[in-house]
Amino acid sequence: MPADTYDVIVLGTGAAGLTAALRAAAAGMEVGLFEKAEKVGGTSAWSGGTVWLPNNRHETALGFDDSREQVITYLDSLSHGLMERPLIEAYADTAPEVAAWLEDNSPVEFEILRGMSDYHPEHPGGNVKAARWSAPCSRMPSSASGPTASPSAGNLPARSR
Ligand SMILES: Cc1cc2nc3c(=O)[nH]c(=O)nc-3n(C[C@H](O)[C@H](O)[C@H](O)COP(=O)(O)OP(=O)(O)OC[C@H]3O[C@@H](n4cnc5c(N)ncnc54)[C@H](O)[C@@H]3O)c2cc1C
Repeated sequence: MPADTYDVIVLGTGAAGLTAALRAAAAGMEVGLFEKAEKVGGTSAWSGGTVWLPNNRHETALGFDDSREQVITYLDSLSHGLMERPLIEAYADTAPEVAAWLEDNSPVEFEILRGMSDYHPEHPGGNVKAARWSAPCSRMPSSASGPTASPSAGNLPARSR
């Protein structure tokens, strides 16, 4: 049987896989998106759905005091200096960028969870008021996501373009 050819192959339809597939497709790639389970969504579909997105643009627009330096200080403090610095910096730099890109290029919208503190606001860089937590609400139909979504086997493997 001849194999399909793709520019990018993504295995898994959790938040990571769907985001990767979306980004690649938006860049003009032919994307093969495959899911081994019967239903889409992975653990992401079962999760509480709150996302820690420090220094995001909604936070900034609401006038909250946050910064790349505070985020890095907080993560570094939580890990007692054990986290690799380049990984912390990469998260601090790209989390706001990824959230903004998703909002601008997909039906996803992030809604600030007002008043939800960091788990450890007492740590350096921690934020007790915070607008770092967001919940992806969406302009997409609810049937398109969640553990109750049950695409038939014929829908899989999914192909994003
Ligand atoms: C009850 C619960 C609540 C949670 N609440 C939160 C929360 O509020 N906030 C938060 O940040 N995190 C939360 N988490 C953690 C969060 O859900 C996970 O860290 C996140 O969903 C992982 O996303 P992912 O895309 O990496 O993996 P997943 O969402 O697990 O997706 C991986 C997918 O890949 C598929 N797969 C695996 N191997 C293959 C293969 N070889 N070929 C094809 N497909 C494959 C799997 O079937 C699955 O669908 C929670 C977790 C649980 C269990």
